[in-house]
Amino acid sequence: MTSRLKKAYDPEKFKVEGHQLIDTLSDYISSALQNKSQKVTDWNLPDNEYAFWKNYLSAGKSNTLLFEEVLKHSIHTHNPRYMGHQIAPTVPISALATLQSALMNNGMAVYEMGMASTAMERIVIDTFNEALGYDVNAGGLLTSGGTLANLTALLCARNVMASNDVWNDGLDENLAVMVSEEAHYCVSRAAKIMGFGEGGIIKVPVNENFTIDTTKLDTCLAEATAKGLKVIALVGSAPSTSTGMYDDLETLGDFCTQHQLWFHVDAAHGGAAIFSPQYKSLLKGINRADSVVIDGHKMMMTSSITTALLFKDHKDSYKTFSQKAQYLWGSQEDEDWFNMAKRTFECTKSMMSLRFFAILNEHGTALFDDFVTTLYDSGKQFATMVKAHEDFELLLVPDSNIVCFRYSKASAEKIDLCNRQIRQQLLEDGEFYIVETQIKGRHYLRVTIMNPFTERSHFERLLDKISEIGKNIETKDHATL
Ligand SMILES: *Cc1c(COP(=O)(O)O)cnc(C)c1O
Repeated sequence: MTSRLKKAYDPEKFKVEGHQLIDTLSDYISSALQNKSQKVTDWNLPDNEYAFWKNYLSAGKSNTLLFEEVLKHSIHTHNPRYMGHQIAPTVPISALATLQSALMNNGMAVYEMGMASTAMERIVIDTFNEALGYDVNAGGLLTSGGTLANLTALLCARNVMASNDVWNDGLDENLAVMVSEEAHYCVSRAAKIMGFGEGGIIKVPVNENFTIDTTKLDTCLAEATAKGLKVIALVGSAPSTSTGMYDDLETLGDFCTQHQLWFHVDAAHGGAAIFSPQYKSLLKGINRADSVVIDGHKMMMTSSITTALLFKDHKDSYKTFSQKAQYLWGSQEDEDWFNMAKRTFECTKSMMSLRFFAILNEHGTALFDDFVTTLYDSGKQFATMVKAHEDFELLLVPDSNIVCFRYSKASAEKIDLCNRQIRQQLLEDGEFYIVETQIKGRHYLRVTIMNPFTERSHFERLLDKISEIGKNIETKDHATL
């Protein structure tokens, strides 16, 4: 044992540094929520940021300073002017749960390596399944992110639906999945990982609401079948990432029943609406899905990354990976719910169930309702303000807290470039953080209202600021003509 090791594990040191870190983070939350912090992000070019940290390592500063510096060099999701990507401002209790998980390091692959978190995981999954309207046969697991959860669900669908033993013998037929052209890119990526190729991704066109055009489902399936493809699954988005619109899950469910397809719902962003009496109707038909993905770190306030993968029939979840890992557990065939790695892609995973459990323990599911309902209401409020403003064009009335719009005062040929420049200037300015998206080849600004402390006054200031930037760009353009 070296003295260096002894010092590294010193509990007194941990206590002092831990308290300092909690102080730093509480100050951060407090100044962010009270609107005192000026910037959501202090933009730095990648190469400059690299140089900064390279120098930092040789400067011999304390880790207390390090944590403060990380704060300055990171984006502040707790700032109400953060309205960019779909990441929640972590509810503090979830961060504490994550800290405990990080220190305890219970690996959870097998029950002994995480008794509490394994039992909690089952309770959390039960809570989801009850809300979704599944019956007692349902099951599920927690895994590291929506991307991995979608892949896991589709791997399961492949093993259940293929004619041969794909897991052991490889692909024997040309398998395919049907998915909205607006779906998250990770669904296509999953299909490619599974060896379906580009041809195995059947993109169903969307209607004017950017949701799957259900009148096209029959033709898409018939065309795929005529090409010799065996379609195994249909993926619905609840909602899609780019525009935040929910597919008509009930009709998709009917279609899957009729054609004996696996029905998967990617509800990574908006599955949490199941806890909102006001908005749960957006998910009507979700109880028909064979599998559902819901992210905790988006609309459920947990730290990243925390994702629930739910199965209508818990037996299916044991069919995803049928390879043997006998050194870990007695028999692969036993459906022992408590040995998690039988059903997850990960071997070791974090104690993510504790993040949900701590929230449930303190607030029940009511906090999820408060969060989703507040933010979806805000989405509608912001959209109404955009629509009423003469400098802006609203893409469409949103289902959720994702709103796409653009500055419309630029000339027709400059409008895409102008909106691109607006977003870049906003990023470099740092008072707000919003993102951008391409809609049918055109450039739009995109906000996701992720912070329940974001209010009307922030929206007003954002729109004023964008108008101002847009006008300056126009004036400069004219000057250079
Ligand atoms: C965010 C998102 C994903 C990806 O989830 P991660 O947790 O970021 O891996 C997948 N699908 C949809 C619809 C999403 O919104």
